[in-house]
Amino acid sequence: MSQQGYVAAPPYSQAQPGMGGYQGGFGPGPSQPLYGHYGGPPQAFSTPPTGKKLVLLYLGCFYSDMLLSFHLIGSVLYPAPPAVSAPYGQPPQSAYSSMASPVPPPTQQLTNQMSAMNLGSYGPMQSAAPPTSPVAQQPFQTPPPPAMGQMAPGPQSPPPTMPMGGQSMAGPPMAGMGRPFPGPPPTGPGGFQQPGPGLAGPSGFPQQAGNCQFGGPMAGLQPGMPGAFPTAPGALAGPPQKKLDPDSIPSIVSRRLILLGVHTFTYQHTTLVILHFLILISSNASPRFIRCTTYSLPCTADLAKQCQVPLASIIKPFASLPKNETPLYVVKHGETGPVRCNRCKAYMCPYMQFIDGGRRYQCSFCNCVNEVPVFYFQHLDHMGRRVDFYERPELSLGSYEFEATMDYCKNNKPPNPPAYIFMIDVSYTNIKSGLVKLICDELKSLLEKLPREEGMESSAIKVGFVTYNKILHFYNVKSALAQPQMMVVSDTADMFVPLLDGFLVNYQDSRAVIYNLLDQIPDMFADTNESETVFAPVIQAGVEAFKEAECSGKLFIFHSSMPTAEAPGKLKNRDDKKLVNTDKEKMLFQPQKGVYEQLSKECVAQGCCVDLFLFPSQYVDLATMADVPSHTGGSVYKYSNFQMETDGEHFLRDLRKDVQKSIGFDAVMRVRTSTGFRATDFFGGIYMNNTTDIEMAAVDCDKAVTVEFKHDDTLSEETGAFMQCALLYTTISGQRRLRIHNVSLNCSSQLSELYKSCETDSLINFFAKSAYRAILNQPLKNVREILVNQTAHMLACYRKNCASPSAASQLILPDAMKVFPVYMNSLMKTAPLVGSTELSTDDRAHQRLSVMAMGVEDTQLLLYPRLIPLHNIDVSSEALPAPVRCSEERLSESGVFLLENGHSMFLWLGQATSPDLIQGIFNLPSLAHLQANMCALPELDNPLSSKVRAIISGVLEKRPSSMKLQIVRQRDKPEMLFRQFLVEDKGLHGGASYMDFLCYVHREIRQLLT
Ligand SMILES: [Zn+2]
Repeated sequence: MSQQGYVAAPPYSQAQPGMGGYQGGFGPGPSQPLYGHYGGPPQAFSTPPTGKKLVLLYLGCFYSDMLLSFHLIGSVLYPAPPAVSAPYGQPPQSAYSSMASPVPPPTQQLTNQMSAMNLGSYGPMQSAAPPTSPVAQQPFQTPPPPAMGQMAPGPQSPPPTMPMGGQSMAGPPMAGMGRPFPGPPPTGPGGFQQPGPGLAGPSGFPQQAGNCQFGGPMAGLQPGMPGAFPTAPGALAGPPQKKLDPDSIPSIVSRRLILLGVHTFTYQHTTLVILHFLILISSNASPRFIRCTTYSLPCTADLAKQCQVPLASIIKPFASLPKNETPLYVVKHGETGPVRCNRCKAYMCPYMQFIDGGRRYQCSFCNCVNEVPVFYFQHLDHMGRRVDFYERPELSLGSYEFEATMDYCKNNKPPNPPAYIFMIDVSYTNIKSGLVKLICDELKSLLEKLPREEGMESSAIKVGFVTYNKILHFYNVKSALAQPQMMVVSDTADMFVPLLDGFLVNYQDSRAVIYNLLDQIPDMFADTNESETVFAPVIQAGVEAFKEAECSGKLFIFHSSMPTAEAPGKLKNRDDKKLVNTDKEKMLFQPQKGVYEQLSKECVAQGCCVDLFLFPSQYVDLATMADVPSHTGGSVYKYSNFQMETDGEHFLRDLRKDVQKSIGFDAVMRVRTSTGFRATDFFGGIYMNNTTDIEMAAVDCDKAVTVEFKHDDTLSEETGAFMQCALLYTTISGQRRLRIHNVSLNCSSQLSELYKSCETDSLINFFAKSAYRAILNQPLKNVREILVNQTAHMLACYRKNCASPSAASQLILPDAMKVFPVYMNSLMKTAPLVGSTELSTDDRAHQRLSVMAMGVEDTQLLLYPRLIPLHNIDVSSEALPAPVRCSEERLSESGVFLLENGHSMFLWLGQATSPDLIQGIFNLPSLAHLQANMCALPELDNPLSSKVRAIISGVLEKRPSSMKLQIVRQRDKPEMLFRQFLVEDKGLHGGASYMDFLCYVHREIRQLLT
């Protein structure tokens, strides 16, 4: 596709049309905006305009459902602006600790237990001595080895040794500096550096937690599966005074609770109007769009190398905004197009500095001084700010859109509206399962709900229909026809589209013919016994159709089996469990090259996104079949052994969500940075032809691109660092637009600042993606070792450089990274990273690919599910019950728990669940009457039933994809499925418990520090 428009400097001539609708208001000065985020210290705006008495405090926080949100925590009268270095509203410590008081920790016994066990405090429990280091730190103490046999390597059970141990912090102990898996993107052969000799040594951790012993009772602390619980605390370890209290180790759950508390506390002071305003006036993009691993970059490459904390941003350019937030403003400059820096092509944004009475501006990205185009000239006020500052989104806001001119369109022609093609596999399996009829019936109502542009009466998206098995059937559904017409293409080797006129139509015009077609399709193939399918030609047909129609769009492919029919892209079974845990395991994740690689390229060039709905009954080589979807911004849904009764509704929920998602097509994204650092690596459902342009056939509201940054010079503490993400795309009505997101970051020569401003949730998103990419080229064992080593290294560097002196037996975690180990341990236990022959190769490949395009909230939830007790809910309350930690210990025989992670959902019923609960939820006298395979709750007319169903549907609504509700009884066989999501426990397929992992990491840190 032509990149010319994307980089061309616009002509500066036309007068600027007025901008309506944009409210002015009070707000921050444009210089040095700080970036507020949660998880770290809340930072308010920096320098407020003098004379403004109202200062707004705000704080990012989690709702219990983890949707991120910025909230005003109060408005105060401030006599004078304080120093920039002390942002208003910043509590002495992070929100985490200082706001903790309203909400108690999960158990109240913490103090007693900890004093009895010589454990340091965590979270709300402050240590006796206030932290003296500039970074608020809360020591998580572990007792000295003699008191804690399990922490000391016992002579009879030597702990596994990590080869990097003992190296000094100053030296380069690992190949990857600041990132775990160095090397170019995986497409390049041998792109990943093999770990140095120091890393190649054997390691028992974490793959086999059973072998991972820390000596003493800790090693065996996980009770055997199954039927081992309920676990009395005493069963965990030896004598009570020697065991680690699970409540004392950092908890994600208590973090969520505490932030919830902030939310409740502050709401009394909040008015929606001000809240709304606040979001409106930020000159940084909302964290819904961009989140960073740290909001304070180290000034030099050396510092970055020293701490090994990856510098990355996770960008979700199309993130959904809640109804009470203003949609992005569209700036229209007419034929002149957006104002851009002459040298680096950055777009006009709040960070440009106007000088010379407003006649020129200095670019914050490359420092080039540009003339202000005549039409864009405006005088400056006494503070040097343009007087139209509040009237132009591009001068005062973090995110906005520009209407793109012809320069930004392919062939200098405005694009056609996109098209959706529904391609249904009508082979024997899909007909017999009733799937084809289900799809056809659903499409009739779904097509009425195609996304449409705000204010437009109907959708501009065109639709087309194809059915296929070994051959393809195209349908003419022109509105003038009385009956749809079928055209068959049996030559799948050279795919073409037999008709253009009447294939892609406006649904409103052709409704009658389309209805007719959808009624007929299930009957037409009712007697089929064709079981072979083609796949690549189906995608090829879609791309050809878009080429002919000169449009972009999306293919919805509903497919059942491995394509074995004689045609391009034919696949054969290459599943081989013998490869698991060998150096060749990576082959299971690698797609077959050739046809599909070429198809991805063609699809991206045409703006053709592929969504794949798979209904396999056995191995289908998902790694290869999902190759095109995963390079075109598409999604892959998998319904193994699809059955209408249990999976039908689950699939339809996915389909409905998918069709209605807000989405942009034919997109190119560029991330520009101020001098001193630059984007060097990219992860996501993307395609890259060069090192800077991120091409996406489509990008929807749930897809995120993770971008890694590297230094190429020294960053300045004074000016900070800037980042601008520009996304050129075609809207659902066929307009060409530029979506701009800007972020400014602090820079510091103090590592403590970096650690203070880290965001664990973003870090783990980066690690998940880089590890999942690395397994394409490296043995899993190496990847896991690198993850553990880097975790230890990051924490050891903090300990060495930032923490105040303390006993070596104490595990000191940076405040903002307290829960990092629990996420990291969970990541290493995920299906792609754990070598187990019990896991399906397709499922592992599926999870790997899904995560690559995930945003921060989704990876966070995937790695730490929510476990919600339902047995004592207040049916009259709107609020969701507080989640508990994902560990077997938190379950109780009489309890009922809901667990969800965005992909799986379970209702767990304890053996001794009260009959009242069973009656209320299921209308059954006892648990024994519960039918296996139940996947929905009956609609009963009682408050408990309504409440539980409301909680479940509320959860389903919020997640990007649907989840099938699985109901499991304690000690039934399917409970094993549920247990693998109790991520604080030892992994079912290998992998350590959280406690074991912490002990192990602690030991590694101590080795690094000696
Ligand atoms: Zn520039």
